[in-house]
Amino acid sequence: MDPHPAPFRLLVATRNAGKLAEIRQILAGHPVTVLSVDDVPGAPDVEEHEPTLEGNALLKADALHALTGLATIADDTGLEVDALGGRPGVRSARYAGEAADPVANRRLLLEELAGRTERTARFRCVIAFVDGTRRRTFEGACEGVILESERGSGGFGYDALFRPLGFERSFAELDAREKNAISHRGRALAAFAAWLFPPEGPSAW
Ligand code: IMP
Repeated sequence: MDPHPAPFRLLVATRNAGKLAEIRQILAGHPVTVLSVDDVPGAPDVEEHEPTLEGNALLKADALHALTGLATIADDTGLEVDALGGRPGVRSARYAGEAADPVANRRLLLEELAGRTERTARFRCVIAFVDGTRRRTFEGACEGVILESERGSGGFGYDALFRPLGFERSFAELDAREKNAISHRGRALAAFAAWLFPPEGPSAW
């Protein structure tokens, strides 16, 4: 039996349009139909209360897989700022408060780093995959620096404040293809896709 019924249906457990667009683009070369939470009527919002990115990603993937029976991926991402001892990290979405407002989060980050010359940071992303028989995580990271002011209008979240190492532009100034090629999420998804669709055939199945 072909273990890759084409196209393979994969549910992405996110309501974040920016993430969903990136995931669709990164997986576009693979035989997979990406479904979103919007395709699942009555899907709950899963509260991210775990202390790690891995725990939160698994929590979201488990919940949507249990509800739908579909193979499901979820991502959890954190921005780790060295001068802040790794904060906001797993709390990046709620950095400036529970309301999770990206504008307030970026403003607080600039305030906390005001006058600081140490501005190194990284995005870390964990993708969790859950289906009927398998439960796995994949990680990707992207090193960079926090800018002194916002630059660019693309992307989402902290993108306008993050300049990846080796680039003169912020994530918000890169086009989607450029960002996905080097980003934390792009790298985690590349590892996931290489496992799910290994070049030599579906040995993981
Ligand atoms: P979460 O993974 O949805 O919990 O995201 C954590 C926080 O990081 C949210 O504030 C997101 O907007 C932000 N975030 C996630 N991924 C990215 C990214 O690729 N670029 C910039 N900000 C991001």
